[in-house]
This record gives sequence, structure tokens and C-alpha cells, in this order.
Amino acid sequence: MRFLIVDDSSTMRRIIINTLNKLGHQDVAEAGNGKEGLDRLSAGPVDVIITDWNMPEMSGIDFIRTVRSMPEIKDTPVLMVTTNAAKDDIVEALKAGVNSYVVKPFTPDTMKEKIEAVLAR
Ligand SMILES: [Mg+2]
Repeated sequence: MRFLIVDDSSTMRRIIINTLNKLGHQDVAEAGNGKEGLDRLSAGPVDVIITDWNMPEMSGIDFIRTVRSMPEIKDTPVLMVTTNAAKDDIVEALKAGVNSYVVKPFTPDTMKEKIEAVLAR
């Protein structure tokens, strides 16, 4: 199972990777913004995308909209991890095609539950 983590914070990427490692997932690619995420996906598909919202160059929401418009990868499960906790933001993310949503800061248990929920779809 291959994951792609897209977040402009290397600390946050490290936290997410550590959580995935604890859940038994070792195959994790990283990108620092949506543009880099698309570059990474053009090199090969992944099984799950975990993305931040607020990033330079290309935001998470634009990244997801682009992924959902690309036939080869449009069905990839997406978990969004963000500080945007407003209901309108969550609705916008779901409309853009996000499958699940985690508000930062999160506990390891919450991340575990959300990842398992996305994988169980
Ligand atoms: Mg960010």
C-alpha cells in the first residue's frame, strides 16, 4: 500500500509518516505542495493521498480538484489534514472530492481511525 503525503510542513509530514509506520505502512512518498504532489503522481499512482489544505504554489483544495479531473487517478482515496475547522471549509473539501477530513492538531488514534475509514471504503 503506497501513500502520498502532501504538506508544506516537514514536521507535519514526519508526524503523519510516523503514524503510518506505526500502522504498518512503510511505503510513503512526500510532497511539499499540490504542484509537487501532481509531479509525484505523474511518476506513478498511489493508493491513498493525505493532503494539507494551506500550502504555497498549489493549495490542497486545488490539488484535489485536479486529481479528481484526471481519469487515471481520479478515484484515489483522499484524506485531508488541515487547521481549517469551519463547517463551510469541510463542506467545500467534501465537494472537491475529499473522502475524509482530520482537523489539526490530531491524536494518533484519530489519524488511525480516519486512515482505516478511508482504506475501508
Ligand atoms: Mg500548510
